[in-house]
Amino acid sequence: MSNRDDFPKKIKETVAKRAAYLCSNPDCDQLCIGPAKSVSDKINYFGKVAHITAAAPGGPRYDHSLTPEQRKSVQNGIFLCSNCADMILRTLSPRLVTSSSCFVIVS
Ligand SMILES: [Zn+2]
Repeated sequence: MSNRDDFPKKIKETVAKRAAYLCSNPDCDQLCIGPAKSVSDKINYFGKVAHITAAAPGGPRYDHSLTPEQRKSVQNGIFLCSNCADMILRTLSPRLVTSSSCFVIVS
């Protein structure tokens, strides 16, 4: 059994919808959903729901004081485009500070 507190599908959908499918990095604001160009009935989606504090011990910004339910809640999720989500994972020990409308990465 995994020790990761991954988001349930419904939580991911809620986080994405709350962000209106716009990347939450204020320097990006990329729309992450739209019609697929090659197939008329498909959706092109490239957003990711990232953990503000990591899903497992040893992950970035892990907060041991959170319960598993808090760790996989909407309040611990942030919607990002694929590029910004990857950038956050690559940045060494960033602090991710969120409010209702923005976040800041501090190395
Ligand atoms: Zn982005």
